[in-house]
Amino acid sequence: MYDVLIIGSGITGACISREMSKYQAKTIIIEKENDVAQKATLANSAIVHSGHDPIPGTLKAKFNILGNRMYKQMSEELDIPLMECGGLVVATTLEEEKTLDMLYARAFENGLKKSEVKLLTKDEVKEKEPNISDHVTKALSLPSTSVTYPLEAAIANIENAMNNGVELATNEEVISIVKNKEHFEVFTKRNKYEAKVVINASGINAENISKMIAKTNFTISPRKGEYYVLDKDVTLVNSVIYPTPSEKGKGVLVTPQYHGNTLLGPTSEFVENDTESTTKKGLDYIKVNIEKTVTNIPYNKIIRSFAGSRPTPSTKDFIIEESNIKGFINVAGIESPGLTAAPAIARYVVEGIVANNIDLVENKNFNPYRKKVIRMNELSDEEKNELYKRDSRFANIICRCESITEGEIIEAIHRNCGATTVTGVKNRVRAGAGRCQGGFCQPEVLKILARELKIDPMEVLYSKKDSAILKAKTKGE
Ligand SMILES: Cc1cc2nc3c(=O)[nH]c(=O)nc-3n(C[C@H](O)[C@H](O)[C@H](O)COP(=O)(O)OP(=O)(O)OC[C@H]3O[C@@H](n4cnc5c(N)ncnc54)[C@H](O)[C@@H]3O)c2cc1C
Repeated sequence: MYDVLIIGSGITGACISREMSKYQAKTIIIEKENDVAQKATLANSAIVHSGHDPIPGTLKAKFNILGNRMYKQMSEELDIPLMECGGLVVATTLEEEKTLDMLYARAFENGLKKSEVKLLTKDEVKEKEPNISDHVTKALSLPSTSVTYPLEAAIANIENAMNNGVELATNEEVISIVKNKEHFEVFTKRNKYEAKVVINASGINAENISKMIAKTNFTISPRKGEYYVLDKDVTLVNSVIYPTPSEKGKGVLVTPQYHGNTLLGPTSEFVENDTESTTKKGLDYIKVNIEKTVTNIPYNKIIRSFAGSRPTPSTKDFIIEESNIKGFINVAGIESPGLTAAPAIARYVVEGIVANNIDLVENKNFNPYRKKVIRMNELSDEEKNELYKRDSRFANIICRCESITEGEIIEAIHRNCGATTVTGVKNRVRAGAGRCQGGFCQPEVLKILARELKIDPMEVLYSKKDSAILKAKTKGE
């Protein structure tokens, strides 16, 4: 019997699992996909927002500010990328300038400090950002805005939680939940799990999961955001460039990424089913709108596009509460700024709600630290030589675009919460994330996965279920 069962391994479930690992509770994360964090947490802008934007008094405002303040410590403890680049909300009309003034006041109301908010003139903006559009007349500067790598943030939280005793079960889709006198029975397509407390952190599925057991007064609608990705040899902007927000959300941004690429997007469109693919309409919308804030965009440097869907709640705010069924906790409607808010939400859920259901006894052996996979191209020549001597696989370059070695790939496979698919390797160490998008290294990564996981190469998946790359043997054994 588990003390706590978390449904969903996105950034929300990941941070909750790490918080739980600070206690001697038996905790498990149940994930329906074959890898962690493959939904909203995989496909977003990666911004740790300052907290200037949410409506004061909402849970979004509260947890955005708290989460932003927690990211630095979390990134140091877990070795998660954090690029403290700052952000600029830019205005192009008198009307938008008025909105900027309103946001300036709102930022303080939400709890930002004086050093964290500043209004800039057109010339000051131009000096900071040479590629800013001439239409921009004024900006709100937000230096506490950062950019992280969301997938690594989720993986690092889960890996650290597992190092501290939490369990993870992937390929486990929850299909029903019942409550007996003392505990819950959570049924997946393959197994039954028993737990005293169940936490619903299932993103766009949270309404369906909640309805399996509890009275559910909210709906969750997928709201898709599409993006273009620019190659990493382009330096278009130095900070996150937000247009002035509208009722549709934060608008189409230009966002520098930690690994050097630049994102153009997202769009904002409610969708029924198709939550993850890009469309001509969406990508055209980006091109039309991006030019209002930034110029000199090198469209010939686009290397790919992608989309993700926000779990937009009918309540217009995060839903973080114990349901009418004692011990069943909804952490739902975690749309933006959910990536930012996740560490603060997690602490509140564990200390403020789980603690009312079970006794939480401190885990005295909790180790808050986790080191990322060795990155050869971040080491000095001496450090590289040391490694080559110990293990020659760190001298064997597999991904030429990103200079990723066999040693790094093997490490990413064998850790807790390790890679089991080609995309899993790409997401953890960036083999295949460069200009050729895996054209050269994919067959090598496939061979390494088969060898290290001791499976037939025919069984190696590209990403999701049923995505085997090799279809049949043509010759030999
Ligand atoms: C386009 C876009 C841009 C964004 N930009 C930002 C940003 O810049 N900054 C920011 O702070 N936030 C941003 N967000 C919001 C942020 O990405 C989300 O708030 C966050 O990722 C939500 O995490 P989650 O864990 O709640 O949900 P998810 O990441 O969606 O995870 C839910 C998990 O539950 C699993 N699951 C679902 N059903 C079941 C089931 N039946 N059984 C088992 N498992 C199940 C899913 O497979 C998934 O792994 C953005 C979101 C989008 C889509």
